Amino acid sequence: MVTPTLTIPQLTIGGRAVAGAGTLPVIDPSTGEPFIEVPAASTAQLDEAVEAANRALPAWKATPLEKRQQVVRDIAEVIKANIDELALLVTMEQGKPLANARGEIGASLRQVDFFGSISLDPEIIKDDETGRVEVRRDPIGVVGAITVWNYPILAAMFKLIPGLVAGNVVIVKPSPYTPVATLRLGELIQDVVPAGVVQVVAGTDELGPALTGHPGVHKISFTGSVPTGKHVMSASASSLKRVTLELGGNDAGIVLDDVDPAAFGKDLFWAAFSNSGQVCAALKRLYVPESKLDAISEALAAEAATVVVGPGLQEGVNAGPVQNKPQLDRVRQLTESALAAGGEAFFTGEVPDGPGYWFPTTIVRGVEEGNPLVDEEPFGPVLPILTYTDLDDAVARANNTDYGLGASVWSPDLDRATAVAERLEAGSVWVNQHPVVTATVPFGGAKQSGIGVEGSLNGLLAYTNIKVLSVKR
Ligand code: NAD
Repeated sequence: MVTPTLTIPQLTIGGRAVAGAGTLPVIDPSTGEPFIEVPAASTAQLDEAVEAANRALPAWKATPLEKRQQVVRDIAEVIKANIDELALLVTMEQGKPLANARGEIGASLRQVDFFGSISLDPEIIKDDETGRVEVRRDPIGVVGAITVWNYPILAAMFKLIPGLVAGNVVIVKPSPYTPVATLRLGELIQDVVPAGVVQVVAGTDELGPALTGHPGVHKISFTGSVPTGKHVMSASASSLKRVTLELGGNDAGIVLDDVDPAAFGKDLFWAAFSNSGQVCAALKRLYVPESKLDAISEALAAEAATVVVGPGLQEGVNAGPVQNKPQLDRVRQLTESALAAGGEAFFTGEVPDGPGYWFPTTIVRGVEEGNPLVDEEPFGPVLPILTYTDLDDAVARANNTDYGLGASVWSPDLDRATAVAERLEAGSVWVNQHPVVTATVPFGGAKQSGIGVEGSLNGLLAYTNIKVLSVKR
């Protein structure tokens, strides 16, 4: 196990490292004990950040696109040079294995690869002897980026990079559960961004409403739960802030009856259990043909048996703890509700002895809709397997939810799978994979799983206002 030496990161306000008005203890989920205290911003300090952002905005939005893109490429270089430290902080605060923390940070750099060279040319609607009409894309202004604890750096970079490239200035507010790596990122990149263009303020949950209600903030890009997303939207209405909401999901996967379970078991398993199930668009309900229940359950269990749960800094571990205590309690309650209703714990993995937010890799059978484990989003390492005899019925059950983030269909017959995929109501529907989220492809939720998308040109345009320039000749 690595013995880390930690630098305590500060808030970044107006280009300076600033101590907080208070402090925030951050818990290592593999011990359940605080491992660091980071500064917590007061709402007065948030006001200072919003003022600094508005001071920095005119110069940044007047900076040519190519220069803004050079700055985000410089940010990527700083991250690459400091990836060991950032990955260590992600593992310590989030719990995931160190290799996965490095993977998260590496994946976040794909934002720079894509947005760092994208073009944002005006759209010419008309250009003739009577006149010229073009559609330009202006930055929105000050963006509040509110992130969550499952992928702290990735979620921040998903917002920061397109926000900056589009000409906005960004205030990042990480989750109180995982502020450390994001604060450190804010400090590290100050040498390559003008003062006030990227600020990071951490603090308690009161900072979120202060940001969403602030009249000096013009857009909120939020990743988190559906209930909080609704608060964000309603608070943003006070000054008609633009919102992008990336919310929760309860993704269904449907396995068709022509699947060879042994060939698909590994991918199905990791679709549900990557990052210990703490993935917004993880597979969260698996529908299998009744005739294949045993074979598919066994294929999943065979892969589950390869999982080594433990502290993320320990060699050989490929799954970490649940990130926080309320989430652990929730996963426990949902699993217990299923077992109390007659569900069968078909597979239950091993967890370390002792403290820490451990929950075993768990596969549950024999539960139906109406049980909270099926109807709600567990966001942890537990998967219910449900059966169907009629494919239309499986599609209807998969769609019978207010969530609509992702969904998947599994079959060697790609035409047949695609036809089923077309009937699933979700922002992304995958065939023989689940989930796939990249910088180049739009990702967002249907129904109550969100508003707007991240990634792709669509994600960039969400950080702009349309401005029409119309000239009469
Ligand atoms: P949460 O909604 O409680 O918190 C998310 C963030 O919102 C935190 O930074 C928190 O401090 C802040 N916050 C809390 N109250 C606020 C308020 N009133 N106004 C503004 N901000 C406020 O998130 P959670 O429930 O701990 O996170 C898990 C959820 O996030 C799951 O539902 C998961 O699916 C979802 N998620 C979605 C995506 C996606 O891209 N769609 C990605 C990751 C996680």
